Amino acid sequence: MDLGLKGRVAIVTGSSRGIGKAIARGLAEEGARVTICARNETELARAAEEIASSTNTEVLPVRADLRSRVDINRLVEATISRFGRIDILVNNTGGPPPLLFLETREEHWHDAFEQLFMSIVNCCYAVIPYMRQQRWGRIINMTSFAAKQPAENLILSNAIRAGILGLTKSLSNELAEYGILVNAVCPGWTLTERVEELARANAERTGRSINDVLNEWASRIPLKRLAKPEEIANLVVFLASERASYITGAVIQVDGGFIKSII
Ligand code: NAD
Repeated sequence: MDLGLKGRVAIVTGSSRGIGKAIARGLAEEGARVTICARNETELARAAEEIASSTNTEVLPVRADLRSRVDINRLVEATISRFGRIDILVNNTGGPPPLLFLETREEHWHDAFEQLFMSIVNCCYAVIPYMRQQRWGRIINMTSFAAKQPAENLILSNAIRAGILGLTKSLSNELAEYGILVNAVCPGWTLTERVEELARANAERTGRSINDVLNEWASRIPLKRLAKPEEIANLVVFLASERASYITGAVIQVDGGFIKSII
């Protein structure tokens, strides 16, 4: 299947590692030119070099903190000045700290809201004018299985990610007339650096090995393993493509069967 992504321009946020990096690579493999961003310049430059050399495509690294609207505007302007257009926006960022409600303070809520929710709002403000003008666009909001099935001790994620589904659906209704399709993807447990760090912390706390912790997490998933980042990226690449032309306002999980409900 030709996905029709050759020559398209994508911004993938939070993409120096993990799921975001796999998405940037997946789009680049299909011939899209990609802007990636993160806060750590060295890690970002390394990721850009790695993706560009393995896919033979242009990758633009822009240092940006997604909690800053100024940085987001700079990210979008840099993409326009390098590539001249923006067709695809994939909103991805780092997860909030794991906390129970009684462990949170008001600042945790403000931080998590800036990081997870306002980053999407500000990226949308910045790219929609370009997509609207060309009457073609794809916006994919990366959330979590937690948007559909609250995860233990992740109240910040559980609360805010469900809100992202409301934002996604409303935006899809409002932007359809301009040819802009908006969808949300909910990854299940995925083996990334972040999850390795969570497993290490859990192993130290409980006196088990990291492998024992990961095996226990995998045992709760019907497919009995965590996802590889590229298995999440495959869906995102399809949703970004010409072939996904009748999909908008959808929420799609890629979770090995982890979510228990039917819808
Ligand atoms: P990760 O921590 O490995 O990668 C996050 C990326 O975002 C990194 O490139 C990091 O540099 C960047 N980033 C973080 N904060 C940023 C900021 N303020 N500004 C700019 N860049 C920033 O995480 P991951 O495991 O790849 O997960 C990506 C997202 O998906 C997270 O929000 C996570 O909570 C969510 N998620 C992950 C899983 C999983 O099992 N890995 C499951 C469900 C949801």
